[in-house]
Amino acid sequence: AVGTHIRTYFNGTWHEGNPAVIHAADHGAWLGSTVFDGARWFDGMAPDLAAHCARVNRSAEALMLRPTVGTEEMVAIVREGLQGFAPDEAVYIRPMYWGIHGDATAIVPQPEETGFAVCLEAIPMAKSDASATLTRTRFRRPVLEDAVVNAKAGCLYPNNARMLTEARAKGFANALVADALGNVAETATANIFMVRDSEVFTPIPNGTFLAGITRARHIDNMKREGMTVHETVLSFADFEAADEVFMTGNMSKVTPVTRFDDVHYQVGPVARRVREMYWDWARSAG
Ligand code: PMP
Repeated sequence: AVGTHIRTYFNGTWHEGNPAVIHAADHGAWLGSTVFDGARWFDGMAPDLAAHCARVNRSAEALMLRPTVGTEEMVAIVREGLQGFAPDEAVYIRPMYWGIHGDATAIVPQPEETGFAVCLEAIPMAKSDASATLTRTRFRRPVLEDAVVNAKAGCLYPNNARMLTEARAKGFANALVADALGNVAETATANIFMVRDSEVFTPIPNGTFLAGITRARHIDNMKREGMTVHETVLSFADFEAADEVFMTGNMSKVTPVTRFDDVHYQVGPVARRVREMYWDWARSAG
């Protein structure tokens, strides 16, 4: 992040840059009790900011941390911090909590010792004609009995990092990931949709992958437009037979997929329409 514009909220005030906020002895640093969320500010809009702030508080509770900042207060803190950015900058908004101390046996974080920070970092939005390629990964999403998949927790992401690293080494942008049963779940960084015969399909949330806030927003937009959206069980073969595939997440909102291993797709009308609907909705929501 050297050279990028970063502002950090910590201990009740905004700091320019990327100050140290986590110490070597913090529970989050050595035992992984960290949660975060990601939202976006661009063209003066911060779509679904309150939903992302609410989710980081739910993630904290799932890790036995104590969320210390209410949703409305967090939104106000973020909006104050955004005033330090130029209107032509696009910002990645990352609120986060971590455990500071553990109990005597160290493993369990002490909820009254929860750290909070917000990191705002200028990261340009992807260009409107950006696209991605996917390859199948052998690494899977864990189930709740294996990992805290009910939280957006930092400790889940080393698994996603190895999916992404493996995919990049093979020359692909991202990985298509299965759940524990071998059905398609999501990608390493975003949710996944496919189109077949003008109907839209996306994996049904089963508690193993992040059912994203952007995913829900797109489904809402599509249904309002009268489009048919199925949340259902989907196999890798279903994706191979798709007419269109696209990824969704807070970072880029919607990214058409042009290739899944040996199968190639055109950027289609549904992905383009979903993008238009998102920007229309965001402009009207503010
Ligand atoms: N899945 C994973 C693994 C992610 O990291 C993200 C990004 N937060 C998403 C899906 C998309 O979720 P959202 O739309 O809430 O950003």
